[in-house]
Amino acid sequence: MSEKAVIGRFAPTPSGFMHAGNLLCAMLAYLSAKSKGGKFIIRIEDVDAMRCPRSAALDIIDTLEAVGIRSDEPIIWQSERTAAYKAAERLLSSRAQIYPCYCSRAELHAPEIARLPDGGILYPKTCKSLSAAQKAEKEKKVRPAFRISVPDEVITFTDGICGKQSQNLALECGDFILRRSDGVYAYQLAVVVDDGESDVSEVFRGADLLYDTPRQIYLQRLLGLPTPEYYHIPLVCDSSGRKLSKSEGDSAKRLFKSYSARQIIGELAFAANITDEPRPADIDELIPLYSADKIPKEIKLRIQN
Ligand code: GLU
Repeated sequence: MSEKAVIGRFAPTPSGFMHAGNLLCAMLAYLSAKSKGGKFIIRIEDVDAMRCPRSAALDIIDTLEAVGIRSDEPIIWQSERTAAYKAAERLLSSRAQIYPCYCSRAELHAPEIARLPDGGILYPKTCKSLSAAQKAEKEKKVRPAFRISVPDEVITFTDGICGKQSQNLALECGDFILRRSDGVYAYQLAVVVDDGESDVSEVFRGADLLYDTPRQIYLQRLLGLPTPEYYHIPLVCDSSGRKLSKSEGDSAKRLFKSYSARQIIGELAFAANITDEPRPADIDELIPLYSADKIPKEIKLRIQN
């Protein structure tokens, strides 16, 4: 029996500039797929088109290209995939309860609502059992979001970097949003549908999304999609220990003002422990050196933008 082809991907949200940590994630996703003879694809997660200008996406694609990271397939744009998300929502609604939620932001963030470790809230199911008449009444004033109900079930998976993870969906995640009240499909749904459609077999992304993974596995199971291997990479810090962040203006593109593409790749590879010295390199030279076991639990970058 032939082994399934390896397909890796990098899926940035172009809500701002990509920082060096995002570039490092793209590099690891690329190296991992290529080191296994696989394909690498880029998907632009602009499902929330209002927050994601085309110019930011093009900027990310240019920055990736500048260091030799290209997609082996045409780039996928989530803003063009609403029909696929709609179809998945329809299928999900035949397999689990999806219900409208009319709660306001203020209601959801009231002090008595339990918080999740990722900063989200444990939805108290306020709207889960509304009658048709109650829904009709609320609908006059509020456009609802749509939530999927989760079972009292523990989802377990082993992350290639962070190790074994378990989460009880009912207690540690709660019924979560599939479609927002403005009609935009949630990241959780879009990511699962798109990874499934592209046959993605390995996912590299920041460790800030580790906590979201069990709910994505839940959706994969409902949709009959395989679960890829996950590699959640530690958030990248600068030399003073500050976490890089788009909102603080960290920008991978700006690094090119002071460093060459080869220097940047050399520094990223050194920070991720792929090489043992920060020597300039072309990305493809690193393919034979890559191994997931090398990726450290903390990543510190020496160069600044
Ligand atoms: N779009 C997300 C981000 O830019 C990554 C999502 C994913 O890789 O699943 O942080």
